[in-house]
Amino acid sequence: MSNQTTPQTYEYKAEMKQLLHLIAHSLYTHPEVFLRELISNSSDALNKLRFRKATGQPVLDESLPAEIRISVDEKKHTFSIEDFGVGMTRDELINNLGTVARSGTLEFLEQVKQGQGADKESLIGRFGIGFYSVFMVADEVTVETRHAAPDGRAFRWTSTGSGQFTVEEIDRKAQGTKISFTLKENSQQFSQPYAVKGIITRYSNFADFPILLNNEKVNTVEALWRRKKDEVSESERNEFYKFLTNDTDEPMGHLHLSLEGTVNFKALLFIPGKAPLSTWGYQHEKTVHLYANKIMIQDDAKALVPEYLRFVKGVVDTPDLPLNVSREVTQSSPTTARIRKVLTSKVLGMLQDWAKTDREKYEKFYREFGPLFKTGVQVDFENRDTILSLLRFESSKRGAGELVSLKQYVEAMKPDQKAIYYLSGENRQMLERNPNLEYFRKNEIEVLLLTDPVDVFIVPSIGEYEKKKLESADKADVAEAESKVETPQDSLSKGLLSVFRSALADTVEDVRPSKRLVDSPVTLVAGSKGMDAQMEKLMSAMDKNFTASKKIMEINLEHPLTKNLSKLYMADSNDPRLKNYILQLYEGALALEQNRPPSPEFFKRMTEIMEEATGK
Ligand code: ADP
Ligand code: MG
Repeated sequence: MSNQTTPQTYEYKAEMKQLLHLIAHSLYTHPEVFLRELISNSSDALNKLRFRKATGQPVLDESLPAEIRISVDEKKHTFSIEDFGVGMTRDELINNLGTVARSGTLEFLEQVKQGQGADKESLIGRFGIGFYSVFMVADEVTVETRHAAPDGRAFRWTSTGSGQFTVEEIDRKAQGTKISFTLKENSQQFSQPYAVKGIITRYSNFADFPILLNNEKVNTVEALWRRKKDEVSESERNEFYKFLTNDTDEPMGHLHLSLEGTVNFKALLFIPGKAPLSTWGYQHEKTVHLYANKIMIQDDAKALVPEYLRFVKGVVDTPDLPLNVSREVTQSSPTTARIRKVLTSKVLGMLQDWAKTDREKYEKFYREFGPLFKTGVQVDFENRDTILSLLRFESSKRGAGELVSLKQYVEAMKPDQKAIYYLSGENRQMLERNPNLEYFRKNEIEVLLLTDPVDVFIVPSIGEYEKKKLESADKADVAEAESKVETPQDSLSKGLLSVFRSALADTVEDVRPSKRLVDSPVTLVAGSKGMDAQMEKLMSAMDKNFTASKKIMEINLEHPLTKNLSKLYMADSNDPRLKNYILQLYEGALALEQNRPPSPEFFKRMTEIMEEATGK
């Protein structure tokens, strides 16, 4: 057996070294968040101990108070924080504060490198690498801890946050953890009681346990959600939101619920003001804290809200779940299902209310959370109609940035219009240049312009709304369905079509006279079974082996260019220039549709054609 009283030295993993280096050597605008992180860890530890007691597991010393003690010394510039919480075993100490890379570490580093996020401190909180933020303000840190099991032993961990840390066995009577350090020269304000008090009330006022600063209590410990709705002021509520989420902005809205009946719970839920920077951000952010009878049992109860409402934050407190419920059981429990059902309909109800009474607010919500929210159409069949009523789109008939609902679209449909039309693409500008829109524009038929990548999957899956089919304006038969005029099929057009067909034999499925084109000579459309252009682009981005189905080329027989081609064809149906012109038209249409530059041959042919034209 090794002698545990001799300090043992351990190396940090490579990514941990990077992380610590970054934390220690950056400049901060809010170094005070270290305090919030340490308090939140102590609070977690006290919650775990409370849980341990409540579930009948033995505890070293039952009599120690559940509180967080902070001591600062203005003269010596020292800082310490202590809790009598669950503490850590030797293995936990080594794993939690050293060798095991926390799940968020790499992503955190990635985000910082990409320069995303408002500031590093807010990222530190979000990625669950909170403890290390202490190296913003200290060069060397000591952690003394004893696990709460009756046979738990005590250990001291020390590190300068460079390459290594040491662990040794010590003598400590009480369970729990004490973290202490001397403040760096530029951080000595954190040894002034007045300053520390201000930070605690700002960031940690709603902690679950009393916080004592040099033996004086500084926070209000209170379960805000258990109070009556009208007894909570807006500023208290917003402060609570900020405490809960580490967000610096106000939430967009909230729900304060108290339910008794088949399911009992109290809840205080929020919709944040802003969505995470990217969709994976939802995975790292904690959703809803779950309390069973005032004891926190999960800080990220994902099962309580459906995936498409993942942006909802807050607290749910229910007497209907047992304390020792595991994550798996929470997921499958009928109580959870009931709570989720109620929360879903309440959130949807609030959104409907915004949509009705405060359009600007609703659209703000939709711009932030729409991409996630929309996916509800495909998964929540019970609330599908409500979700459909909450969808919004840009449209060809309305100004940029203006949003329209499916209901408004249908109300504004022309009396004989057959379907709801949409066109998807990267952005509005590109969509407006798309020749496939010409017919609709000329006939004043509204087309939904879909620019959110998610729309490509969501909108086709809607199928029908108020008995009107949703159809892509990219599809070949679309304009035909709407058109009342017959295309003349004279022998000249037939001849020209056959020249196009033979010139493009391997590249397109068919060549047809167009009923949709107005200003452009040709366009490419998907066959009635093919995918629309944007969908194909996404598919090929995701799957290298994906091959797009062949397109149908439509020709505008009324276009002056087409008429000139007819003349060439009449004069000599074997004129070699015809093929060149046709290939040129095809490649141009393809480049436009795919928003990428045409091939080098395109430019070669263009030079030839210009040379010929200018030589005349
Ligand atoms: P997080 O709190 O998100 O898990 P942190 O970096 O803040 O990440 O803390 C890392 C881990 O260290 C915690 O999960 C916990 O296991 C342990 N830890 C930190 N502080 C304490 C404490 N005061 N008491 C017990 N364990 C602690
Ligand atoms: Mg933490």
